[in-house]
Amino acid sequence: MSQIPNSLHGQDIANILHPYTNAVRHQEVGPIVIERGEGIRVYDDTGKDYIEAMAGLWSVAVGFSEPRLVEAATRQLNALPYYHTFTHKSNEPSIRLAERLVAMSPARLSKVFFTNSGSEANDTVVKLLWYYNNAMGRPERKKIISRRRAYHGITVASGSLTGLPVNQQDFDLPIAGVRHLTCPHFYREGREGETEEAFAKRLADEFEALVLAEGPETIAGFIGEPLMAAGGVVPPPATYWQKMQAVCRKYGIMLVADEVITGFGRLGRTFGSDYYGIDPDIMVVSKQLTSSYQPLAAVLISDELFEGVAANSARIGMFGHGFTTSGHPVATAVALANLDIIEERGLVANAAAMGEILQKGLASYADHPLVGEVRGAGLIGAIELVSDKAGKTPFDPVGKAGRYLFERGHEHGLIIRAIGDTIAFCPPLIITQSDVADMLARFGRALDDTATYLR
Ligand code: PLP
Repeated sequence: MSQIPNSLHGQDIANILHPYTNAVRHQEVGPIVIERGEGIRVYDDTGKDYIEAMAGLWSVAVGFSEPRLVEAATRQLNALPYYHTFTHKSNEPSIRLAERLVAMSPARLSKVFFTNSGSEANDTVVKLLWYYNNAMGRPERKKIISRRRAYHGITVASGSLTGLPVNQQDFDLPIAGVRHLTCPHFYREGREGETEEAFAKRLADEFEALVLAEGPETIAGFIGEPLMAAGGVVPPPATYWQKMQAVCRKYGIMLVADEVITGFGRLGRTFGSDYYGIDPDIMVVSKQLTSSYQPLAAVLISDELFEGVAANSARIGMFGHGFTTSGHPVATAVALANLDIIEERGLVANAAAMGEILQKGLASYADHPLVGEVRGAGLIGAIELVSDKAGKTPFDPVGKAGRYLFERGHEHGLIIRAIGDTIAFCPPLIITQSDVADMLARFGRALDDTATYLR
């Protein structure tokens, strides 16, 4: 890898602070510069191809270089490259997208607020809940309950909802008023002899006990990813969502489904809420909404929430929240074309069918001595590596095996994600059966290398 100062690699090292990167190590190893993409593959500046088994950052539903999204963006750039949605202004693609999102989302959601990123969307959720409860004359009802290992973003409020140490340590997070429950990971948190249902009940009891200890009148919302992704791909135990939802309803706590990853087909249903039977008061979507060709996220809210917020905006004079690019016409035009493609090509059904093949393929590694657990749902899966299978013993240091496998993956032309020692897969929804086989074969080679290295 070239590190000549005036090369692209050298310029990268000299000028960029990379997200989610060890900045000191980056000075030594430099970047992998991705030049182009095609379908489920991307190519670096040496021409080497990689299967993008993570769809970028869990997000490129329709694959790379989809011409219809390029056309939609170009058409909109020519027609109206930018306008805002402040002070009663609007634009056609945003109006049409909002109508479409309301029509396709769970029943109670009736209004849409646009942001650029999932983090901004979850910050908006926190502010909406605070604003709403002030409007309703319940200023004490402000706390939000999340889970350990949840991922809801990295801004000050959303980073507080996130339950991962690396996003909080030395950032002085979380802020006050956020609580975290046990991660619903049966393999790690379940007890000897406990069934999944009993585990789910224990977690719902923990939730209720926390609500009672804090005072139900102080709890505004509970937020969860239907299936936790960035915290290590954790499908909830059977009956978890029904039980958690019942606690929310019992105490008038707003249920927020963070569908930033699960939205638009990832689990083989349109939303994770459909897959798990969740009936949210608020839903957050992003990523696969535009296949990340444009930055866009949306918060969908119930009528009940909207009525309170609207009345307060009238009292104050306006709803004093919004971004310069909320409802950006190019982003919303790309989203509309992207949703057309998902619908026309049956990509939700494809995710269900390819998901089954992926889960079976991953399960075939279950007996491997390094594999502690195989888990997932639909077209998202993971393999957790352990140093001792019987004792479920993590590696020391945690991440040692995952990091090595991740780097060997690059050598074998595979981009995966290592979350500690858990290897995640979340390929584009357009993936085919032979692509799944190719992806798993590349993974198998990287796993063999890792086993040799650790021996
Ligand atoms: N919520 C979930 C469930 C996510 O997975 C992510 C990003 O991975 C976010 C929110 C934050 O989105 P963004 O990175 O666009 O701020």
